[in-house]
Amino acid sequence: MAKSIGIMGGTFDPIHIGHLITAEMVRSGASLDEVIFIPSARPPHKDGIHAASPEDRLAMAACAVQENPYFTVSDIELKRAGPSYTVDTIAELRENLDGAELFFITGADAMNDLYRWHEPKRLLQSCQFIVATRQGAPLDELLIAEKFTAEERRHIHVLMTPHLEISSSVIRTRIRAGLSVRYLVPRAVEEYIERRGLYREHDEEL
Ligand code: ATP
Ligand code: MG
Repeated sequence: MAKSIGIMGGTFDPIHIGHLITAEMVRSGASLDEVIFIPSARPPHKDGIHAASPEDRLAMAACAVQENPYFTVSDIELKRAGPSYTVDTIAELRENLDGAELFFITGADAMNDLYRWHEPKRLLQSCQFIVATRQGAPLDELLIAEKFTAEERRHIHVLMTPHLEISSSVIRTRIRAGLSVRYLVPRAVEEYIERRGLYREHDEEL
């Protein structure tokens, strides 16, 4: 039987338990065989303030997935030159993972924004989407119905996951303010951040 593979894309600056819990809930809820975390190389929409390098973001993701046998990390977007578009990543993965069914995992916020991504219609046709919705961050059904046809929307599946008010931005802000992020990120990630002195300063001040 063909494998079902979840793809969790993100900036992961840094990866946190919101990402990990969501991926694990979707993996078990949708009976996926594995989940691949793919840090994006040059997120076009992020400003770079407090940001960690792609190599650090990849290393932190690798630390975070260590203890889950279903999780791996891929550097596929970091190796590619130019902007990293999900539609290209899915096409490249499809070539390498022969016959596997691909499920792109996003939060509702990312899904509501999908129509602004590169070639959103081709992307939707090229894989299934599993949207982890949580209370307080619902899917904007009206907007999605306006932007995508019924056929395209058949590729969108919603799965309820626990609501966790955690974001990478909150973690960066806490570190900059000298506050603890214990339990918000896995221990190995916390140690990596400390060891490398990440997120302590604004870029301009370095
Ligand atoms: P930032 O605060 O910098 O925007 P983030 O925490 O939103 O970071 P991203 O790397 O932008 O993290 O998100 C990657 C994916 O993880 C997106 O699909 C996003 O919707 C999802 N995600 C982020 N935080 C959570 C959370 N707390 N619960 C569920 N999904 C989340
Ligand atoms: Mg975000």
